[in-house]
Amino acid sequence: MQRYQMYIDGRSVDPASNRWFESYNPYTSEPWAEIPEGTAADVDIAVQAAHKAFSEGPWATMTASQRGMLLHRLGDLIARDARKLAEIEVRDNGKLIAEMQGQLNYIPQWYYYFGGAADKIQGAVIPLDKKGYFNFTRHEPVGVVAVITPWNSPLLLGAWKIAPALAAGCTVVIKPSEFTSASTLEFVKLFEEAGFPPGVVNVVTGFGKEVGSPLVEHPLVKKITFTGSDATGRHINEQAAKHFKHVSLELGGKSPNIVFADANLDDAVNGAVSGIFAATGQTCIAGSRLLLQDSIYDSFVERLLALARTARMGDPMQADTQVGPVTTQPQYKKVLEYIDIARGEGAKLLLGGGPSNRKECGKGWFIEPTIFGEVDNQMRIAQEEVFGPLLSIIRFKDEDDAVRIANDSRFGLGSGVWTSDIARAFRMSERIQAGMVWVNSYRAVSYMSPFGGYKDSGIGRENGIDAIREYLQVKSIWINSGAVTANPFVLR
Ligand code: NAD
Repeated sequence: MQRYQMYIDGRSVDPASNRWFESYNPYTSEPWAEIPEGTAADVDIAVQAAHKAFSEGPWATMTASQRGMLLHRLGDLIARDARKLAEIEVRDNGKLIAEMQGQLNYIPQWYYYFGGAADKIQGAVIPLDKKGYFNFTRHEPVGVVAVITPWNSPLLLGAWKIAPALAAGCTVVIKPSEFTSASTLEFVKLFEEAGFPPGVVNVVTGFGKEVGSPLVEHPLVKKITFTGSDATGRHINEQAAKHFKHVSLELGGKSPNIVFADANLDDAVNGAVSGIFAATGQTCIAGSRLLLQDSIYDSFVERLLALARTARMGDPMQADTQVGPVTTQPQYKKVLEYIDIARGEGAKLLLGGGPSNRKECGKGWFIEPTIFGEVDNQMRIAQEEVFGPLLSIIRFKDEDDAVRIANDSRFGLGSGVWTSDIARAFRMSERIQAGMVWVNSYRAVSYMSPFGGYKDSGIGRENGIDAIREYLQVKSIWINSGAVTANPFVLR
């Protein structure tokens, strides 16, 4: 079994507790790595190091162009090691090698893009309404950033945060999920090779209470950027509010994937399957509510079932596997519970409905692709995020009905609209309350385009050039070039 160390102040170190916990491979359900069990003591050392790196020394005095060059170099190193890092992710989270290799090949773009943006952060000269002043703005980094990531795509979701934070001039302490820490511990070594000074990037591993909480509450942490469940996000937001910290939160979803009768149904069937069964449904933007127009309901369901039945399950490390295991044992149990809940609520089971007993699934945490029909949007499986291979199909009559059902959710992350009517595509994309609307497509993301949630799906945006602002604060500077203080007792 491989034993990992944490990375603090430019050094690989053992945890203060001198304890390690096991990380499991969801395909074999066996432990494969030992992860350092961090505590508040490690958090404090890491945050102090990040604060020192932010305040003095080479990082703080570097030009923005030099910071950008380091990010570029890091991107090159990730590209070099993409296969190795992808394999570690698969071993830890059970997602398909085809997907993780694709992610790792794509991740360098975040570091190139935000590296390029580093020296284009500019303030403005403001032509004031008051005579005798020269007024301008500076965009300054907020300080030490806590980067807290979930288990589904640790390095990709980390890149969405780390790249803009470093480009802005911040320093970071990363806390990966306790279920999937290995890839981050391996990845962080590349920062040293790229030439980042010690303390700029640190990783403390461990559990939410023992590491996440002290990190959020540490007085020298000025910003928390988090991806994970809405329950944890709410807790972090409350803690952060006590100390007026900056926060961005990417939380869950219950995204509607809406198919109109006028859509290209072949494309829409593919989109519905990829929306929920790709990544075994373990993605925040899963199209977990499939809304079908009445007139095509039966024929669409038939085609959907025909395609879903062909899913090849098994070893996620095999290039041709299509549905892998669920990442964690608690998540496996949670998905099975939701299947029972759906049955109890009277939804009609159309496919799957339990653990997989296919021989190629071995002892892994596999659940059959599961589809429920005739779901009412008020049922719990239509309102609560399952985060697994479970699709709920809901009927709608017309456009107004589709909008009403789609928006009848406390979440608002992704959404899909399948139609061949361009005017309808525009209308729907205006009316849906969600951060992303994909028309005749699903689950597309880019480092260039904003990503984030409406409603309970989150606060702030990642990706796209404005994401860098999440790590900056604006200073307004007033130079008196001749203004006269007429009456010192009156504010002008
Ligand atoms: P989680 O909220 O349990 O954990 C996320 C991270 O927060 C982990 O690193 C965890 O250790 C940490 N954490 C837990 N308690 C904490 C605390 N009190 N203070 C600080 N940190 C704490 O989520 P998860 O189980 O890792 O991930 C699955 C969930 O994440 C899903 O339910 C899904 O909705 C959500 N998710 C959202 C997105 C998105 O982009 N919106 C992406 C992936 C996952």
